[in-house]
Amino acid sequence: MSITRSAKKIISTAAWSAYNFYRLGKYFKSDYHDVSELFNAQRPRIRHHQVDSLRVLINFSKESTPYYTNLLEGIDIDLYEHITDEEIDLSFLPPLEKHQIRNHLDELCSTRFKTKERIKNATGGSTGTPLTFYQSRGYWNYRNLSVYYFDRWAGWDFGEPQLVIWGSQVDMKNGGKWIKNLNWYWRNQYWLNGFHLTESEMYNTYQRMQKFQPTTILAYPSSLYQFALFLSENNLNPNWNLNGIISSAEMLHSHYRSIAETVFQTKVYNRYGSREVGLIAMECDEGRMHINCSDMYLEIDSPDPYNQPGDILITQFNNYIMPFIRYRIGDIGRLSDEKCPCGNELPILAELWGRSTATFRTKEGKLIHGGYFTQKFYNLKGVSQFQLIQETLDQCSIKIIKDKEWNEDERLFIDSVIKECLGSDVSLSMEFVNEIPLPKSGKREFTISRVT
Ligand SMILES: [Zn+2]
Repeated sequence: MSITRSAKKIISTAAWSAYNFYRLGKYFKSDYHDVSELFNAQRPRIRHHQVDSLRVLINFSKESTPYYTNLLEGIDIDLYEHITDEEIDLSFLPPLEKHQIRNHLDELCSTRFKTKERIKNATGGSTGTPLTFYQSRGYWNYRNLSVYYFDRWAGWDFGEPQLVIWGSQVDMKNGGKWIKNLNWYWRNQYWLNGFHLTESEMYNTYQRMQKFQPTTILAYPSSLYQFALFLSENNLNPNWNLNGIISSAEMLHSHYRSIAETVFQTKVYNRYGSREVGLIAMECDEGRMHINCSDMYLEIDSPDPYNQPGDILITQFNNYIMPFIRYRIGDIGRLSDEKCPCGNELPILAELWGRSTATFRTKEGKLIHGGYFTQKFYNLKGVSQFQLIQETLDQCSIKIIKDKEWNEDERLFIDSVIKECLGSDVSLSMEFVNEIPLPKSGKREFTISRVT
């Protein structure tokens, strides 16, 4: 017996309510209301929330987290002077680097929590060694509230059918097959594994979606791109009447966005987040990335954060079990002080370059966004895939999967782009390969810099 679309939505909405009651308790609705109110508030109120949260977190960390107790020992800092509604100055605390988390994992945990309260999490390690850290249930509750709020910008709602194109190995291996199926059923989601996108699976998904009629898609942008390309090349038109597409977990390149928006006839919303600190920023209807100021304080490590991009530093407000203060997340960005025409007053992340390991550096110290090369090379005749690596300040290498249209003009063009950008004395070695393997995280890397 087939269950109707509306009945499935009712069941799923009820299941979401039960889930939220279980996770967040009976005050879920009022908690969600409070968080939404803050996200919709005017700048002074948002700022005040950040000031309060920073003071409480830093005091707490100093008193109960050995790492911060040591760090702040003997430093006489008046938080009421350094953190005010007018100015926030956290320079008395050095940024928290990934290697420090690896070396001081236990000291970074607060003594006010029991060991069994720690929820272990880890990053996939797309840029090297995986990073392990702990989070609390409270952290996860706030993280969920923010996701519920921001995903609504893309037209998501509880119980609405959603196509998920995802492939993180950490996410996929949790639970047995029947638990996964049950989870997807009550969430009213259909999952397509972004790690193993075969033509037959993409075709099956297309057929099933014609009936399932998702209202949103949540996807890895590279998998979304692959799926959109497959549909377009096979003249398959998804008439699903989508509200929007949420792109998350890796860099949304402009060529990914344009093909997805054309094929699916809807807007792609870029959601920026990480396993370590949660949802960091979300794109609005006007194409600006608004910062999640309820859960965190975001700084740019640059002498002029509004004009000169730099490393993004995050202070997470809700993970008291293991405080992340001024955590250097590994991405590069720039702030903007404009007020968005959409009316929301959350501050704006004007540029998001993605991983600092995908950002190239010249001998003069200039930073070049890896996306610049991606835009130049992805559509080049004869190049079906590539990966450009800055090995040193003097040397780059590129791996290319070429097709039959390749000729020497492309080689000269690639060489000239590199020299123009990075310097005329930079050498380039070119290697033709049959495959460019995906890293463990499944996130495709077009550009990698080994220069730090
Ligand atoms: Zn906006």
